[in-house]
Amino acid sequence: MTFRTRFAPSPTGPLHLGHAFSALVAYDWAQAQGGEFLLRIEDIDQSRARPEWESQIYEDLTWLGVTWPRPVMRQSERMADYGAALDRLWEQGLLYPCHCSRSDIAAATSAPQEGAPQLGPDGVVYPGTCRDLSPRIGPRPRNVTLRFDIAKALHGDLSRLGFEEHGMNAGKVSLDVSRLPKTVGDFVIARRDMGTSYHLAVVLDDDAQAITHVVRGVDLFDATQIHVLLQQVLDLPTPHYLHHPLVRDEQGKRLAKRDDARAISLYRSEGLARRDILAKLDVYRAMLTQDFKLNGL
Ligand code: GLU
Repeated sequence: MTFRTRFAPSPTGPLHLGHAFSALVAYDWAQAQGGEFLLRIEDIDQSRARPEWESQIYEDLTWLGVTWPRPVMRQSERMADYGAALDRLWEQGLLYPCHCSRSDIAAATSAPQEGAPQLGPDGVVYPGTCRDLSPRIGPRPRNVTLRFDIAKALHGDLSRLGFEEHGMNAGKVSLDVSRLPKTVGDFVIARRDMGTSYHLAVVLDDDAQAITHVVRGVDLFDATQIHVLLQQVLDLPTPHYLHHPLVRDEQGKRLAKRDDARAISLYRSEGLARRDILAKLDVYRAMLTQDFKLNGL
C-alpha cells in the first residue's frame, strides 16, 4: 500500500505558521517514506470559503517547497458522496433530526441539576433533547440538522476501536468507547446549511484519497475519536495518525486564522526566506521524533 499523507486546509483565511508546520510534516514524512502527499481543499463551508484564499494556499505552499498532484480534491464537489453515506447511516437508524438552537442547548445543559456542562470536540456535549422525538423511518429528511446517535452505534461491534499514533506520543491508542456518549455525545453529522459536516467529509475524503497517515494538530485529537468511530460504522479502514504540537505565539496562545501577523504571505512580503520559516518551526519539529526533518533540514 502506498504511504500517503495529506494537508487539508479550509480556504477561509491566510495560512499561518501552524498550517505551514502541518503541511511540511505531512509532505516531508511522505518524501522520507517514498510515498505521496496530497492536497485537499476543505470548502464545505461555502459561506466562509473564498477563491482568493484558495489561490493564496497554492502560492504559499509552492513557496514553502511543497508540491502535490493535480487536480486537487475539493469537498464542495463531493456532496453526492456525503449524501450517500448519510443515507446509509440513516437506514441503519443511527441518525436523527435535531431542531435545537444553540441557546436551546445552552439552556438544557445549564439547568442546575445538570452540573457543569461537559465539553466535547464540538463544544457542549449535546444533551439528547431531540433523540427520541421523531421516528427514524422513511426517506432521510433533508434540510435539517442530523445528529449521530452514539449510544446506538455502540450497540454494534466496536471492539476494534483504536488507532496507531506517531510522533510525540507514538504507540497504539485504544479508545474507551463506553465513555463516548458522555465525552463526545451525539455530534452533528449533517449541518442544515451544509448537508454534511467536517467529521463526515474528512472521514469519507481520507478514504477516497486512500490516505494511510493523517497529519493534524493535537487540537483535533478528540475529533479523531469521532472519525475512528465513523470509519468503523461505515466499514472504512482507519489510517494511522500523527497529532503534532500546536504552534504558539510568544504569549503561548495557539495561532488562529485571524493571526494575520503570522501569515506566511506576510512573512514572504517582509522578505523572509523559506529557511527562516523552517527555523521558526524547528522547536516544534524537535518535539516530534528525531527522524523528522523539515524540507531536508
Ligand atoms: N480542514 C481542517 C482545518 O483546516 C483540518 C483537517 C484535518 O486534519 O482533519 O483545520
